[in-house]
Amino acid sequence: MVPPMRIALTVAAVAALSAIPAALSAAPPVVLVQAGHLSPGEPGYMLQTGASGNPFGLESEFNRRVRDDMVTRLKAAGVDARPLAARVEPLGVAGATFVSVHHDSPGGAAMVGRAVTGRGENWYHGEGTGDPSATPYADSAPHRKPATKVTPAVERTSTALATRIAKGLKAIYTPGNGARGKFNGLVGRTDYVRMNHFYGYYRTNAQARVLVEVGAAPEDNGFLKRTDVIGKALTAAIVADLKARKLL
Ligand SMILES: [Zn+2]
Repeated sequence: MVPPMRIALTVAAVAALSAIPAALSAAPPVVLVQAGHLSPGEPGYMLQTGASGNPFGLESEFNRRVRDDMVTRLKAAGVDARPLAARVEPLGVAGATFVSVHHDSPGGAAMVGRAVTGRGENWYHGEGTGDPSATPYADSAPHRKPATKVTPAVERTSTALATRIAKGLKAIYTPGNGARGKFNGLVGRTDYVRMNHFYGYYRTNAQARVLVEVGAAPEDNGFLKRTDVIGKALTAAIVADLKARKLL
């Protein structure tokens, strides 16, 4: 039996809760931002330590700076933003969005890849050398299990986000901002298996999974040093995508 006073308080509490708009009472969306190649590494890819020659030295250091800028901005926008290193933790982490930040090597390009169906994660020789293969080589190092799945729904959501990110990146990838290299935008779904079957897509259950090559070092170094401009544009694309999905 509940005393009368307790009932009155409970009714008042329910009334107060129901006055809060649904968007405010729901948990904020989780966005995972990965700094590509940043230690600790992912088993099976430990030798993929990234490019170098950007204004901050190693690719992982550029990636970390952009990641941290994005996490700060995403939190300010009401997102539950979580920084990741190359090793995805916890394995199979859920979320609305997973974005892996990178820059390309000399002669490369600014471009955006995303999780697509039809083939699993890339396998390499040993801890990450040689050409990507859809099946393990005899000498491939073991991968962590279980791998998560890229479903048709994940591909659709990922493609929508990647399209937004490519558009946002194109808008800032200008000579005025220091860009001197190539802009390839959203890569074809069967091109660039390194980007479209990136291992990170198979270590998370995020609904949208994207990898962005912000530019190439050293030709884009004037652009790559503007981590604030880059972080702002990538964050804006992610936030717009969350709003379109009615998650924010
Ligand atoms: Zn990279």
